[in-house]
Amino acid sequence: MTPRPTRAQRLSMPLARDVVRDLAAEHGGCIRPVQLRRTDLHTGQVEQVPVPCGHTLATVCPSCAERARTLRAAQCREGWHLDTEPVITPGQPDDVQQMRIEHRAQTQQHRDQADAAGQDTGELDELAAELDEEITRSGIRGNVLPARPARRHRSTRRRQDAPDLPRRPVTPRTIGKTYTAPDGATFRPSMFLTLTCDSYGKVGPDGTPASPDAYDYQRAARDALHFAALFDRLIQNLRRFVGYDLQYFAAVEPQKRLAPHLHVAIRGTLARAELRQVLAATYHQVWWPPAEFVRHDDAHLPVWHEASGRYLDPATGEFLPTWDEALDAIGPDDEPLHVARFGPTFDAQGVLAGSRDSARCIGYLTKYLTKQIADCHQAQTDAQAAHAGRLGDALRYEPCSPACANWLRFGVQPKNPREGLRPGRCTGKAHRREYLGYAGRRVLVSRKWSGKTLADHRADRRAWLMATLGLSAADPARYTWEPVTPGDPDHMPPAQRLLHVVADRQKWHAALTEARARASGQDTIRSAAGRAA
Ligand SMILES: [Zn+2]
Ligand SMILES: [Zn+2]
Repeated sequence: MTPRPTRAQRLSMPLARDVVRDLAAEHGGCIRPVQLRRTDLHTGQVEQVPVPCGHTLATVCPSCAERARTLRAAQCREGWHLDTEPVITPGQPDDVQQMRIEHRAQTQQHRDQADAAGQDTGELDELAAELDEEITRSGIRGNVLPARPARRHRSTRRRQDAPDLPRRPVTPRTIGKTYTAPDGATFRPSMFLTLTCDSYGKVGPDGTPASPDAYDYQRAARDALHFAALFDRLIQNLRRFVGYDLQYFAAVEPQKRLAPHLHVAIRGTLARAELRQVLAATYHQVWWPPAEFVRHDDAHLPVWHEASGRYLDPATGEFLPTWDEALDAIGPDDEPLHVARFGPTFDAQGVLAGSRDSARCIGYLTKYLTKQIADCHQAQTDAQAAHAGRLGDALRYEPCSPACANWLRFGVQPKNPREGLRPGRCTGKAHRREYLGYAGRRVLVSRKWSGKTLADHRADRRAWLMATLGLSAADPARYTWEPVTPGDPDHMPPAQRLLHVVADRQKWHAALTEARARASGQDTIRSAAGRAA
């Protein structure tokens, strides 16, 4: 009889569930699969299918995050060195889509006639809104009518210190120039850029400021908050400068000093001096009300006035200016709240299609995509933790958007106000520690990059896999899919779903290895090789 193991021995044994989860992850399986019930409409057969969760963060699901990263790399690769224009022609609308648009047109006409006759248009407006939703659901992009113009027109005068750029009309071309070498060989170089924010004070190799008191945390916070808008502006300027519809694939990441920076793959190329000129001329002005003086600290916060739906100054009993009123009060001689610019340091290199450089740059571009912004550089020292803390403090009371609760602190009623807003407690993502002020998308891809959406790239991958395995695609109309909820009799608890994932992945691996061996004319190799996908 085997002796009973001691407590220490028992604790040192691996936990069965951990082993299953690790095995699922090791085989590239999702560790938090969603259970779907698939019914075959021809045979009536019901099957339980664990479907990947699709999360993009490795801390949540390593396999799904890695798959998402690989897909981004494929997207980046396909678009970077295109030598023919991507074809983006919208498909023809089908009969049902046309019928809905016709119905929508009639409704609009009735509504406008009623309006002209001074009748109530409420019901017809509702009907129009319902039809708009149906039109969207039927697979039509955009709206039949442009959204109501809510844009405010304000002074966009150039600042004195921003040099003007030559402006060329932008042609619809999206691919770069071709060069011919003396020996007749042609090549079409593309570009890899790294752009950083300006300096906020000297920092050491560990990313922390030499003198924390002299480090400009407020400007760091504001640059991070408006980083996406600044990048937009850069692309506009670049397109006007080069005179064609320049395309990009960019990834936003933090530097060690916790300021965002950008890796950008650009199709086509321009000279360093030209790039420097465009960068110097690129800025984004934030025309928001002033937020320099604290008018209402936490002990004297504005109070909500239910009857009017507005906030009052507790001392005077007067309404705070609304967002629009505060904007209108910005005079012609006022300065913008903030001017975001890139720093003078940048890196630019030419990259040729299919080169080792190209692969290395795609590696950089996708390296950190499976991590939350703040997790890219975990604080290892007290100085780093203190630096992150001070940036977090600066971001806490910085207004992140027109609707930010922090405006109350500066005596302005935020846009779309409601009861219970408290400065320092805005729920906007930008204030959260894990975002470091940048709450935008991590990957910014222009519309005509590869001419494909991420879903298209996913479908490509699937098609390749089916072809490799020698399978034909199932007719989608043959099956119905339903989510299985915990109350259902066929619901599987997470641990059971994971076992299915492990079994599926093993079968699938074996099939793929065999298919590959067949393709290369070898015998089946029973090894861990071919762990891709
Ligand atoms: Zn997953
Ligand atoms: Zn906010």
